[in-house]
Amino acid sequence: MRNIALLGATGSIGESTLNLLRQHPNWGRCQILSAHHNQVKLLALVKEFKPEYAILTGGKVSLDHIEECKKYDCQLLEGREALLELLDSQVLDTVLLAVSGAAGLEYGLKSLEGGARLAIANKEPLVIAGHLFKDMETRGKGCILPVDSEHSAIFQCLIGHEPKDVSKLILTSSGGPFHYREGSFEDVSVEEALQHPTWSMGSKITIDSATMMNKALEMVEAKWLFDVPLDQVSVTVHRQSIVHSMVEFVDGSMMAQMGVTDMQFPILYALSYPERWLSELPRLSFEERMNLTFEPVNPFLCQAIELIREYGDDPASMVLLNAANEVYVEAFLKRQVPFHKVYEHIRQVISEGQSGLSSLQSLSEVLELDAEGRKISSSIIKQV
Ligand code: NDP
Ligand code: MG
Repeated sequence: MRNIALLGATGSIGESTLNLLRQHPNWGRCQILSAHHNQVKLLALVKEFKPEYAILTGGKVSLDHIEECKKYDCQLLEGREALLELLDSQVLDTVLLAVSGAAGLEYGLKSLEGGARLAIANKEPLVIAGHLFKDMETRGKGCILPVDSEHSAIFQCLIGHEPKDVSKLILTSSGGPFHYREGSFEDVSVEEALQHPTWSMGSKITIDSATMMNKALEMVEAKWLFDVPLDQVSVTVHRQSIVHSMVEFVDGSMMAQMGVTDMQFPILYALSYPERWLSELPRLSFEERMNLTFEPVNPFLCQAIELIREYGDDPASMVLLNAANEVYVEAFLKRQVPFHKVYEHIRQVISEGQSGLSSLQSLSEVLELDAEGRKISSSIIKQV
């Protein structure tokens, strides 16, 4: 039984986690639940899961809701600071970080500092501050467990192997809705970009999957999680999303992890590790013909991968890339910018942001550059 702080409880990963706990209350109890704006859903979750604390990080909580939560022995709090304080003061067994975007950075580091088992779905903080996470993991008592399906797959394939045994990590990608698109990407609509072929996820990661920026971020995530150089991380498009990723070893042998396309699997493994818990999650069936295909990335979308090949080893560029991407995706969802210019925009923000380059040794330097990247990105978008 895990004591769980579920940060981002109202989102897609939050929902998958709570689904597991609904079916298996003996696997864990919710100690803390957080949401950003969705107070109504948070309140419903308080009633169902009865956490000790519920926190709304991005808005004001109403007095009525505070009173309502008291009936369930739950304290309803508001604000980012309140959550950071809780992560600091509570003894936490497991923190499942399912917030979206770089906003999860401080929560993740604080959880590790406190010695928690950090089950991390939220990839952006690892992309912009992977070195701080690894440093905190080495210094403290906490540990990082991947929840992103590709990284969970690699983590499982690597068990029992030494870093020197590994020659390549191969991330699989569904290819998103535009894998077979030829010609122009100029008129891609928000609705088309939100049509993911295999996974149902939050809107930011769904757009990232359409631009392949999700896979680009995942390459950097893999570099930090598994301490593998980026030139040993590659990507293949696997439309069926059944092989979740692969590892090639120095002797040429390969291992792959497979399973039904459902985020509950990697979430469950991050909760149960190093054990495996008996579940009734759906199984793959081999009674019918099943084709597994592997293809190269669409040449236009490959620009996302090229950005990482070019800038992935420069921490400052990764902060700027992530900030530019987050701002651009938000603007795209509001129909303020076209789909196809995201890569060009990211390049521009990386190049304009380099002047204020800092060494990025500390969290405050990362946050400062992140804010600078967002400022540059927004001002470029306003000029369009
Ligand atoms: P969603 O958009 O569905 O949910 C995001 C959650 O975070 C919500 O609870 C939201 O609260 C909260 N949130 C949003 N902004 C902030 C903020 N600034 N500060 C604190 N909390 C915030 O996202 P997903 O669940 O799809 O993704 C979460 C993370 O997991 C992302 O980093 C994504 O890349 C990663 N991931 C997701 C996968 C998936 O299948 N969805 C697969 C692999 C990785 P509210 O509802 O109140 O706005
Ligand atoms: Mg993934």
